[in-house]
Amino acid sequence: MSTVRKIKLKSPIVKILKTILFIIVLLLGVFLFYRYEIYTIKKLGYSEESSNYILFHGLKDYVEPLGENKTLNEAFSSTDYKEENLDHYKSIKYVKQDYFISNINALVDKGYSNRNINMIFAHGNGEDVREFAKRDKIRYLEEFFSISYAKLRNYDRYVKYSDETGEDDDVTVLIVNLDLDKENYVDPTIVKEFSMTMLVNKHRQLQEDFEPDNLVKIPEPYASDNNLLGVREAVDAFKLMYNAAKDEGYGIVINSAYRSYKDQEETCNTYRDLYGENYVTNYVARPGFSEHQTGLGFDIGSTTVNVFRNSKEYQWMLDNAYKYGFILRFPQKFVTYTGFNPEPWHYRYVGKEISTYIHEHDIPYEEYYAMFLDE
Ligand SMILES: [Zn+2]
Repeated sequence: MSTVRKIKLKSPIVKILKTILFIIVLLLGVFLFYRYEIYTIKKLGYSEESSNYILFHGLKDYVEPLGENKTLNEAFSSTDYKEENLDHYKSIKYVKQDYFISNINALVDKGYSNRNINMIFAHGNGEDVREFAKRDKIRYLEEFFSISYAKLRNYDRYVKYSDETGEDDDVTVLIVNLDLDKENYVDPTIVKEFSMTMLVNKHRQLQEDFEPDNLVKIPEPYASDNNLLGVREAVDAFKLMYNAAKDEGYGIVINSAYRSYKDQEETCNTYRDLYGENYVTNYVARPGFSEHQTGLGFDIGSTTVNVFRNSKEYQWMLDNAYKYGFILRFPQKFVTYTGFNPEPWHYRYVGKEISTYIHEHDIPYEEYYAMFLDE
């Protein structure tokens, strides 16, 4: 009797246990199935968060044939995601920028094509695109933004300059990017960091306390007096050039090199007293706007003739300086770009790679800078 009662007592417990086990197995199955699905989506290149979105919104069939798509991946995990823009996200090339998805939404709303949107993203950072997307759809997008170095934030100035001057689009972009559509010395960019490729001119100013890195003394006979300073790499390159010139029977020497902000101020005052304000405006850079403050610009003289322009060294430098990393900085033909009247004696060290490019393409340093170095 007692055994029968035991079985009877056990029976509902077994039932419950069986049910629990069944539920556990079922949940485990569902879980494993879910993990497997997520695994296959993640394998395409999606994050956990995006994979969940894809799975629960039934988009697996949509993303599977596409393979990895970074823009979609970002869209699915973004709070800015809009389902109606799915096909746009799919076609927009991914860029690592702030506001990326919300910027796509805004540009789609303005009526830009996917091709145009890709173009827009290539010409500014997230903040630039955000500002650009606030304005009405622009007219000359392809004209200006097929030029690799065009900037979104300069668009209005491109249109204005091009309307006023009738210049070609590429020249217009170059001029405006270099701020040459503005008056000299007005609203300059402040250049803070030293680099061998830095650009200083009448639109790009150094502060009073700016000093280049690695200033060293330039000894005689390389310099005409023993107190001149220059950036080490530039001085070393000059020594090589000096020796090569000497071997060929030419005598070059540095007459002026690094000048501090204060030195430039004094230079300006001296010339103002001697020749007046007009002369200073045309021939002397204002303090902060002189390449001499970078320690990379040298005034070269001839050891045989007083006027450098008339020396055989002048021609030798034109033919050979680029081999040592130097460029003639202010030639007559580039006055529009450099803003300086010709100075046949003023050479700038930029390194051999850039000097060779500039020599081969015959362009001003401003143009090189705008095309390859400006951000
Ligand atoms: Zn000079």
